[in-house]
Amino acid sequence: MKHQPPATSHQYNGVIERYRKYLPITEKTPIITLKEGNTPLIYAEFLSKSVGGNCEVYLKYEGLNPTGSFKDRGMTLAISKALEEGFNAIMCASTGNTSASAAAYAAKAGIKCIVLIPAGAIASGKLSQALIHGAQVLAVEGNFDDSLKLAIEITGKYPIRLVNSLNPFRIEGQKSASFEICDLLGSAPDFQVMPVGNAGNITAYWKGYKEYKEEGEINNLPKMIGFQAEGAAPIVKGHPIENPQTLATAIRIGNPASWKTALAARDESAGLIDMVSDDEIIEAYKLLASKEGIFAEPASAASIAGLLKLAKKNYFEPGKKIVCILTGHGLKDPDRVIATINKPKKVKPEIKSVLKEIGY
Ligand SMILES: *Cc1c(COP(=O)(O)O)cnc(C)c1O
Repeated sequence: MKHQPPATSHQYNGVIERYRKYLPITEKTPIITLKEGNTPLIYAEFLSKSVGGNCEVYLKYEGLNPTGSFKDRGMTLAISKALEEGFNAIMCASTGNTSASAAAYAAKAGIKCIVLIPAGAIASGKLSQALIHGAQVLAVEGNFDDSLKLAIEITGKYPIRLVNSLNPFRIEGQKSASFEICDLLGSAPDFQVMPVGNAGNITAYWKGYKEYKEEGEINNLPKMIGFQAEGAAPIVKGHPIENPQTLATAIRIGNPASWKTALAARDESAGLIDMVSDDEIIEAYKLLASKEGIFAEPASAASIAGLLKLAKKNYFEPGKKIVCILTGHGLKDPDRVIATINKPKKVKPEIKSVLKEIGY
């Protein structure tokens, strides 16, 4: 631990150190961390009032991870284990955030990172991250599902580690988020609402809650509630979607790799997986930013769109605790704001013109 600050400084050292006893780490694992995790759980006043019935809504703001999404929780473990196993190259297919995270952690570890992205379909913030961290980025003329198929085939044949959520260490790392929620609330929430794309994250959260209960850290389990985008809702519709479409690019996935475990999370917890439209996502995206002060990317807003959709149907009994996962930061996809909100109005450089506009 020679590169760590002295113990007296109490610096937080990432999810592996914090939850080591629940993770498949050995003395030989080199820990590659950017101090991911430890994200805030924010009480949402406006949303709690909107849901009504004295329900408490909390937002787990995963956009505050080092590369701006929850993917860092799994990447710290996937990269650490890849190094332990002697790999010096990693590969992923990505709708954006996995590539940003993989590129950053590979840079920290000093290994090669190759990224396959669907051409023209990832948000500019995410692409910028993969590029600046020095990954080799290839834009596949196909969608995410095509890219993932290629990544699986190549990593099966060559000494390159796959770091998509099919890599079990990704799931192991990501389950730390449910530990944090329980540690902060003192129990599991009654409901957890989150977006579902490739379905690794819902799998990870459910695994985390179940393990925490087995370990006696909590006595209850939440109902797991997932939301897909209407144009990319294979789990809701019960069949793969050939050409998934949604402006929430992080969940634009037609054939989720963790489909079965997502169904298990839903059914074991007596929860549900439903869908929301792009219009509902954009409404929730704007509301979250303008009423709660939190800027999350469109895929994350699917949680909030889903929350409000269920609240309208009186799905939540009074007095329940609901945690919504905000999976990624809004700055990942700045073009979406520009496409959604009116541009600033031009004024002359004089007091009179400004005062006229602001109504004074
Ligand atoms: C990856 C991602 C998702 C989807 O998570 P899955 O594990 O693929 O279901 C949702 N939102 C954001 C911001 C993501 O980066």
